[in-house]
Amino acid sequence: MEDRYTTSGRGQLYSSILETIGDTPCVRLNHIAPSHVSMYVKVESFNPLSSVKDRLALSMIEAAEREGRLAPGQTVVEATSGNTGIGLAMVCAAKGYPLVITMADSFSIERRRLMRFLGAKVVLTPRAEKGIGMYRKAQALAEQHGWFFARQFESRDNADIHESTTGREIAADFAQTGLDYWVTGYGTGGTVVGVARVLRAQLPDCKIILSEPHNAALVGSGQPQARNADDSPAGSHPVWEPHVIQGWTPDFIPKVLQEGIDNQSFDRVLPVDGNEGMQWASRLAAEEGILTGVSGGSTLATAMDVAQDAPAGSVMLVMLPDTGERYLSTPLFESIPAEMNDEEQALADS
Ligand code: PMP
Repeated sequence: MEDRYTTSGRGQLYSSILETIGDTPCVRLNHIAPSHVSMYVKVESFNPLSSVKDRLALSMIEAAEREGRLAPGQTVVEATSGNTGIGLAMVCAAKGYPLVITMADSFSIERRRLMRFLGAKVVLTPRAEKGIGMYRKAQALAEQHGWFFARQFESRDNADIHESTTGREIAADFAQTGLDYWVTGYGTGGTVVGVARVLRAQLPDCKIILSEPHNAALVGSGQPQARNADDSPAGSHPVWEPHVIQGWTPDFIPKVLQEGIDNQSFDRVLPVDGNEGMQWASRLAAEEGILTGVSGGSTLATAMDVAQDAPAGSVMLVMLPDTGERYLSTPLFESIPAEMNDEEQALADS
């Protein structure tokens, strides 16, 4: 036992914060999962800026550097629900690129302030214009000023980084136990498409479960997305409604996710109520000590659903894309008071 509390360090020094991205741990749940399955969570908040999107941010910038699409000192612009912007703000700060983010004003205040703290400019777009509004603003600014538009919703550097890192990490970590179910949601679709390429080849029996908001079940509807010649969305998808799962399911099916639909990167697509997701995020924190956001909670809710019918002994892995701290100002923490409640006051007085 004592060995657990001694260490010889990481065995390397890092020349940049960017070298610490990836290699996140898969952690077993010991209290809240049904006892007939082994349920693990992949904790993406171990990334330096605390979300899965750090991987993508590095991938898009370094691929563009390699291919000469991004010039030294050129301004980068991107549309994001926040986590890609926070990851890009880190990468651009570390590498010396100015960054302009466009984001709908519906996403959490924490996101805006973190990006600005990291040196980025944040242009807010009206929530009524939905995801497409922030996307078109980024596109227009890029054209107007000659900036580099990172294009996470279409870029091949998106799924590619999840194939070369996230997917490989999962395949390696579950090589001994096997993996029966992998559960994820989607924003751009980069995670599901990239990881699926690896799982289909290396763990072909693994069932890939894709989750989406019950009131914005774009993939489940089977209705196609209208697209322009440059792969950008031509308009909002007909079944989209505003939902509470920040970072998931914009009002269009991104080109990146379309590859997954066309190639059957997932075996089932299941709807989830984001409010139920918030309850699971709370239980994960209070009963397992693991902090995640609304998308992580919603992925967990879907996994709990799947677990009910899963054969005994099944091994499951649930993606947790970011940290709960990104939601302190949102409904996830609404019932958590800042002041002492009666019980705490009684303790203080005791
Ligand atoms: N959860 C959160 C909180 C996110 O920000 C994102 C990315 N927008 C996702 C999940 C989905 O990841 P992906 O874009 O790879 O589909």
